[in-house]
Amino acid sequence: MQQSIEQLANLGVQKLVPYQAGKPVSELQRELGLTKIVKLASNENPLGPSPKVSAAIKKEIPELSRYPDGNAFDLKAALAKKYTVSEQQITLGNGSNEILELLARAFLNPETEVIFSQHAFAVYPIVTQSVGAIAKVIPAINYGHDLDGMLAAITEKTKLIFIANPNNPTGTYLSEAELSQFLSKVPEHIITVLDEAYFEYVAETDYPNSVPWLKQFPNLVITRTFSKAYGLAGLRVGYSLSSTAMADLLNRVRQPFNNNALALVAAEAALADADYLAETIRLNDAGMVQLKAAFSELDLAWIDSVGNFISVDLAREAASINTALLHKGVIVRPVANYEMPNHLRISIGTEAENAFFIEALKEVLVNV
Ligand SMILES: *Cc1c(COP(=O)(O)O)cnc(C)c1O
Repeated sequence: MQQSIEQLANLGVQKLVPYQAGKPVSELQRELGLTKIVKLASNENPLGPSPKVSAAIKKEIPELSRYPDGNAFDLKAALAKKYTVSEQQITLGNGSNEILELLARAFLNPETEVIFSQHAFAVYPIVTQSVGAIAKVIPAINYGHDLDGMLAAITEKTKLIFIANPNNPTGTYLSEAELSQFLSKVPEHIITVLDEAYFEYVAETDYPNSVPWLKQFPNLVITRTFSKAYGLAGLRVGYSLSSTAMADLLNRVRQPFNNNALALVAAEAALADADYLAETIRLNDAGMVQLKAAFSELDLAWIDSVGNFISVDLAREAASINTALLHKGVIVRPVANYEMPNHLRISIGTEAENAFFIEALKEVLVNV
């Protein structure tokens, strides 16, 4: 009998279901031959990159025959200054997703358990399973994380806890008080990963300023990214802030040149462009109001979100509505794989993009 290649893989990998990304615009164009397509599916920044980023990339082009700075001196210095941490507390990743993977590689094995919430970001189960660790998924409360439930799930095998704040795709968040209490109850030998991919968007006054917690909790890892508010999803730059001991371990498993040279200069330029960030947030806040008003008008419920996306409840299976939207040139994100079959997640776009989506949704809801 012929050897099955699949059976050669580690058990966790055999059972792995690949991450479902938002459909690329070019793919829908190929499939349906549409001329106008609006993509509100991957929580990308609708402004496009900052002009300062484009200039920095152009300037770097003559250096492309050289390896990038493997220690990212300039970008780390800029981040250290901005967040009042030392460079030794920073680990850079090829997107913050890579940091999640580094954590799995450094700390997990088939004898360890990982705790995260139902409806939480899909990369947590993937990195957990890829190293054969055991996922403990804690039922959500009103789509949000049940921190007491997560604490109660801790066993002597627990190694790591993933918390998305705010969470994607629900947009729910945890307050400073809730999280600081939680962290003080997590045993020291368990690592808490606080995924703050949407940190820059959150204006709620009780949203935590988590960085000072690093002094108190050497087992805390905060992850952030340039993919969302800084508009660099295509370049792949994310980072973690942690204790220096933790960063040292993550940097041991990291590939030496995991951030390319263009990404490094682009991230530095993006970090310095306060006007771009302010415009991003203004646009997002306005778009959130615009979408909620449309949902109200259509009698649709939604989950309140503090991110750059919102999940709307269609009160019926969302799959056929999603297909109909695709035929109208609108790409949004079905979230059935997050156990939310009746919801669609909409990334906030420009005013015109949001309006295009709203118009399509109105037509589709009547006809499908
Ligand atoms: C988008 C997202 C990320 C970041 O992904 P990158 O790899 O940095 O592009 C991380 N966590 C959550 C919850 C996200 O939604």
